[in-house]
Amino acid sequence: MTYQDDNIFAKILRGEIPSHKLYEDADTFAFMDIMPRGDGHCLVIPKKPSRNILDVEEDSLAAVARTTQKLARAVLRAFSADGVTVQQFNEPAGGQVVFHLHFHIIPRFEGVPLRPHTGEMEKPEILAANAEKIKAALAAS
Ligand code: 5GP
Repeated sequence: MTYQDDNIFAKILRGEIPSHKLYEDADTFAFMDIMPRGDGHCLVIPKKPSRNILDVEEDSLAAVARTTQKLARAVLRAFSADGVTVQQFNEPAGGQVVFHLHFHIIPRFEGVPLRPHTGEMEKPEILAANAEKIKAALAAS
């Protein structure tokens, strides 16, 4: 259960593959989930390598928590949502697929269930439009 730096989020952090970036500071990075379970589904990750909540250093976890709150507030405003789901999975048995710590942030609406995992990627133009809404909400905060 060691960190491996060939995971997809490490590649995004290194700029080796593209992402729809929302926010960045010294310790954290936020971007759109490519297979959203709801419009505005985004992810927050630490820049420091950690596999999940079981090995992350406290300072890195605290920084991710701060950015997660910032993004949760922004997506609520950006989509005029009724609520926000924050999810975080650890190890395969815990539902984790990408082994760089990440928090999911998903705007929620009364009576609307999460979309199932289909493995289908969202259209880039939709991800870009939703990213713009979230960035505008962040800028207004
Ligand atoms: P988890 O590891 O918590 O189960 O989920 C990993 C998440 O990463 C999934 O929601 C999936 O849609 C997302 N994901 C997987 N590959 C990529 C990618 O290449 N780019 C982005 N932006 N998200 C990804």
